[in-house]
Amino acid sequence: MTTADEPSADDLEVLSRQLGRPVRDVVAIPARCVCGNPLVAATAPRLSSGTPFPTTFYLTHPVVTSAVSRLEAAGVMNEMNDRLTADQDLAAAYRGAHEAYLAARAEIGRRAGTGPVPEIDGVSAGGMPTRVKCLHVLVGQSLAMGEGVNPLGDEAIAGIAEWWTRDRCYCEGAWDTAGPTPDKDLSRHGPQGLPSMTGRPAPVRRAAQDAAHDAAKEAVQDGTAHERAGEAPGQEGTA
Ligand SMILES: [Zn+2]
Repeated sequence: MTTADEPSADDLEVLSRQLGRPVRDVVAIPARCVCGNPLVAATAPRLSSGTPFPTTFYLTHPVVTSAVSRLEAAGVMNEMNDRLTADQDLAAAYRGAHEAYLAARAEIGRRAGTGPVPEIDGVSAGGMPTRVKCLHVLVGQSLAMGEGVNPLGDEAIAGIAEWWTRDRCYCEGAWDTAGPTPDKDLSRHGPQGLPSMTGRPAPVRRAAQDAAHDAAKEAVQDGTAHERAGEAPGQEGTA
């Protein structure tokens, strides 16, 4: 990443509108829509509050996050986990994605000046290196780091082509652009969020159908939270 990835004031406002809450500690915008709007936020490995933050690449675009939720609801993660057990080449490539995630986080931490974060040393996100627990995390990594880094993130991007592809802008109407920028947390437990966020009211723009998909997804996930140590940017202090 370069200084060209640094978030502008406009970027931060769009991120807040995309997520329905104020964002903090965003260090870079490593993936953008063809129109320039953020797709992924890179967040410092330690928030300014002191909380460790493992979900370095956080998928923010509502059209992409909804599409990935549909893929999860269809049971794609179970199938991927079966293949990780059976296919040693895939398992090795996935471990490589884990290592790449940690290296990218270290670089972002250097840029942010956060210093060491021993609480999440060796811990990436999304279930890596051996399991798939959150496709949003894998897609966030694939969009941020490019094709060929995370094979399952790449697969998931191909899998949502019916709803979202890189070559088109899907921003029109995807979030509220007219009202005030969110200055407090109005989001429900996000797909990449904390278990403690579960039970928050659904955001007004969220389609009921998507909420049902998320509920179905959570039901198939053996009771464990998506990102146990994770927390969405800007969420701490409001839980
Ligand atoms: Zn766009």
